Amino acid sequence: CGITASAGDGDAAQTLIDCLENLEYRGYDSAGIALSNGDGISVTKRAGEVADLRAALADGGPSGRVGIGHTRWSTHGAPSDANAHPHTDCTGRVAVVHNGIIDNHDALRAALRERGHTFASETDTEVVPHLVSEALDAGADPETAFREAISHLEGSYAVAMVVDGVDGVFATREGSPLVLGVGTGANYLASDVPAFVEFTEQVVYLDDGDVAVVRPDDYAITDRSGAPVDRPVETIDWAP
Ligand code: GLU
Repeated sequence: CGITASAGDGDAAQTLIDCLENLEYRGYDSAGIALSNGDGISVTKRAGEVADLRAALADGGPSGRVGIGHTRWSTHGAPSDANAHPHTDCTGRVAVVHNGIIDNHDALRAALRERGHTFASETDTEVVPHLVSEALDAGADPETAFREAISHLEGSYAVAMVVDGVDGVFATREGSPLVLGVGTGANYLASDVPAFVEFTEQVVYLDDGDVAVVRPDDYAITDRSGAPVDRPVETIDWAP
């Protein structure tokens, strides 16, 4: 129901939990985050409240400079720890959060199963990290692999992804909201501005088809074909 992402100098875990709390008003049944720290991706997720997630991440929990977060409102698969986002590929090097519905998930999953993929959840979302993983295996760089994966999706979605060893977040939208927050030494993504407005009041509203690569010090927005698109940075004047 809500997605968020953070790329910055400090530890993203606390920032992501704050953002998820700020998205609680949208309603949800499960929550989770994935952190990339240059040495693997750690996923912490469960059915229940963001407060439970915060408790699970307190004191010596995983850390990472970039990460993604999710509050889930189940559409495909019951609320459960396994169905909570983020979802990963078989190798655990790709993690994805998704807001919306992937209409052709059955056909994509059947084809992936035939090619040897096994699935850990009942969600429509889980096909995405597996598609990315296949493209990586075929030699694509992470951004190209992300573009390749989303080219197969039909439906409505806002998606954000981290890949092991990459100091940034990849995201796109089609029919679901997605906003970029431009900070100092940190940049953010979320379904809605309140998620990160406590960290920055500079926002960029993304359009359907935009692909954003968000790193701690900069960001780039392109269309599906890879051509740069120019989106204005706006200042929020209702910040708390
Ligand atoms: N369709 C996805 C699921 O059921 C995402 C739902 C959402 O937008 O929270 O897991």
